[in-house]
Amino acid sequence: MSDQPQYRRILLKLSGEALMGEADYGIDPKVIGRLADEIIAVRKADVEVGVVIGGGNIFRGEGLAASGMDRVTGDHMGMLATVMNALAMADAIEKRGGYARVMSAIQIHDVAEDFIRRRAIRHIEKGRIALFAAGTGNPFFTTDSAAALRAVEIGADLLLKATKVDGVYTADPARHPDATRYDELSYDEVIQRNLKVMDTAAIALCRDHDMPLRIYDMTVPGNLMRIMRGEPVGTLVRN
Ligand code: UDP
Repeated sequence: MSDQPQYRRILLKLSGEALMGEADYGIDPKVIGRLADEIIAVRKADVEVGVVIGGGNIFRGEGLAASGMDRVTGDHMGMLATVMNALAMADAIEKRGGYARVMSAIQIHDVAEDFIRRRAIRHIEKGRIALFAAGTGNPFFTTDSAAALRAVEIGADLLLKATKVDGVYTADPARHPDATRYDELSYDEVIQRNLKVMDTAAIALCRDHDMPLRIYDMTVPGNLMRIMRGEPVGTLVRN
């Protein structure tokens, strides 16, 4: 382990729920502020950063469809929710002196740039934190799949999934107190054991493109930087 970051470029996936804090809806300014501080700290340590934000704190297509809405319309609302979260994160980052750009997978020119891969890479090379909004731009996908896709597209050395648990367990630790945490797993093991790490499309994309993934607890301040220094926080999934 060293004080120098072990990664050159990362893609961080934050779920919408990560922004809610203790609330059951929306964005907690304190929580988003702390996450922005952590992202800026990593950027200052010379790591290039792309971020994919979910929208589950506002809308999910599946949930809307369950209450009677057309699924595609619900997914469009879910994607727009991720745009709102990305705008809020960009604002929090810039209020703290960082530089951020929101790039959307659906065209929404008055509020965000389009996601164009070469431009995205240019932003991150220039030290800006690129926030990739609207998931993949397609219904029936999730922001986990978008995170895997963007990680591969921008050539990240590591995909990080920030959650409220400290890694992947043999079973749900909330319901099975004897569940144990994996330090490391292969993608094939994740698929064979049907472990709920990310959706299958995201896992398959990471496996096929050799993208390592670390699942960690974002509620512990400083964890992101610990991972950058090479500390074995959470669970690592790789081929
Ligand atoms: N969504 C979509 N296509 C995508 C990504 C997201 O249709 O490529 C929609 C989908 O309805 C999803 C919602 O946006 O439920 C919010 O994303 P997600 O559920 O992945 O957010 P998270 O659980 O990470 O907060």
